[in-house]
Amino acid sequence: MPKGATVQTSPRKPKLGQHFLASEPAALRIVEALGDISQATVLEIGPGRGAITDLLARKSRRLIAVELDRVLSAQLRMKFSMQPNVEIIEGDILKIELDTVFGAKPGSLRTGLNFAPEPARVIGNLPYYITSDILLRLLEYHRYFSTIVIMVQKEVADRLAASAGRRDYGLLSATAQLYGRVEQLFTLPPGAFSPPPKVHSSVVRITIKPRVEALRVSEAEFIAFLKLCFGQKRKTLWNNLKTRYDEDALRAALAKSGVKPAIRAEALPLERTAALFRALRDGSL
Ligand code: SAM
Repeated sequence: MPKGATVQTSPRKPKLGQHFLASEPAALRIVEALGDISQATVLEIGPGRGAITDLLARKSRRLIAVELDRVLSAQLRMKFSMQPNVEIIEGDILKIELDTVFGAKPGSLRTGLNFAPEPARVIGNLPYYITSDILLRLLEYHRYFSTIVIMVQKEVADRLAASAGRRDYGLLSATAQLYGRVEQLFTLPPGAFSPPPKVHSSVVRITIKPRVEALRVSEAEFIAFLKLCFGQKRKTLWNNLKTRYDEDALRAALAKSGVKPAIRAEALPLERTAALFRALRDGSL
C-alpha cells in the first residue's frame, strides 16, 4: 500500500437482517398491538436478543419463538429455561413445519373432527431481506393465525396498507388484503435500532379475515390470477392477461365484469378483480 494511503472500511452489514430494537417504549407498543394475549399462543419471528421476547414471555399464555441464529437461540434458550410457557426453536421461519407446530397432533384427543384450536397471534421485527417471503408464508398458513403484527421497512408497510388506485398498491397489497384487514400503526426512525438500518420502519397489523368466500373465488386459483394481473408492472390488464387467455374470451369477460381493458391491475379494487376472475372462469365452462 502506498505510504499515507488509508484503508477504506465499509460499515459492516449486519448478518441475517440483525437490527435489534433498542427502544423499550417501542417494544411495549408493538406487544400491545397484539391485544390481550393472556390466554393466547404467540409465535415470535426472529427474537434476536429478546427485545420483545421478555414482554411476550411475561404476558402470553404460551410463546413459541423461532430464531435462525444458532448463538442467539442458544442464549435465549438458557435465558428462558425456567419459564415453561416459552419454547425457543432454532430454525428458519421459511422452512419450519407450521403444520407440525400448530396443527392437530396425531394420536391426541385434539385430532377429533371438531378440533379447532384457538388461532395463534404472530409478532416479529422481521429481517428485512426476506419480509415478503415471510409474509406470504404466514398468509398461506393463515388458518393457524388470528392477528399478525410485524415491523417492516416503511415502504413495505405503505404498500401493504395501500388501497387500490394508490401508487403503492400492488400484488403484496392485494394478497394481504385478501386475507384480512391491514393497518399501519406507527413508524420508527433508524435510531430506534442497533445497529441502525438505512430506512425507517413501520409496524403493521393484519387482522385475519379471509375474503375468499365473500368474493366467490377459489384461493389458489385466485392467487395465481392476481400474480398474472400484476405480472408486468407497467402493462395494462389486457396485455398481462392475454398471455394466458384467448382474446375473445378475455374481451367478453372484461365486458361482463365492467372492467376497461386499458386499466392496470393497480387501479382495480379486489371486488372488481374477483368479478373479472369469475367471468373468465365461468365463461370457459
Ligand atoms: N426481535 C429482535 C429485536 O426486535 O431486537 C431482533 C429483530 S432483527 C430485525 C431480525 C431477527 O430475525 C434476527 O435476530 C435474525 O437473526 C432473525 N432471523 C433472520 N432470518 C431468520 C429466519 N429465516 N428465520 C428466523 N429468524 C431469522
